[in-house]
Amino acid sequence: MTKRKLKGSIRLFPWELQSMPEYSCSLPSGTTLYKVWKSNTNAFAVGIRCTNCSLTGRSNSHNLPGPMCPKCKQDTLTKFNLPAQWFIGMYVPDSQPGMIGIRWFDVITLEGPRPPNYSPPDWSNYDRWKRDREQEKLVQRREDRQSS
Ligand SMILES: [Zn+2]
Repeated sequence: MTKRKLKGSIRLFPWELQSMPEYSCSLPSGTTLYKVWKSNTNAFAVGIRCTNCSLTGRSNSHNLPGPMCPKCKQDTLTKFNLPAQWFIGMYVPDSQPGMIGIRWFDVITLEGPRPPNYSPPDWSNYDRWKRDREQEKLVQRREDRQSS
């Protein structure tokens, strides 16, 4: 059983987000604590625009919301693809026995050079990933100091 928790944010490089498993219409079956996954809230939505009055919106149905524009009442609605909007889900402990919580995070995209030897981490353990990344940063700082 799952329960939703409050949101925060996770800072990721684009290639890290790319390497994370995607569950946009379901949840990962293995409910391991601190497992993370990405979910595109726009995966099953389309953008809708009226070419007459330029009304713009989104719909969770891929069928247009009726034959007419709700604003100008003209038959001038068109669909467009919405850009992906990512959230990260994480299985977290829950105070109720036998329950596992889900915490949702916004994604903050980091910029920087992609390490040539990048290999995707084990996304089923975010805590370990975070520790590994801190460790990498320490090693990098030490190397930077030695080379200057
Ligand atoms: Zn319209």
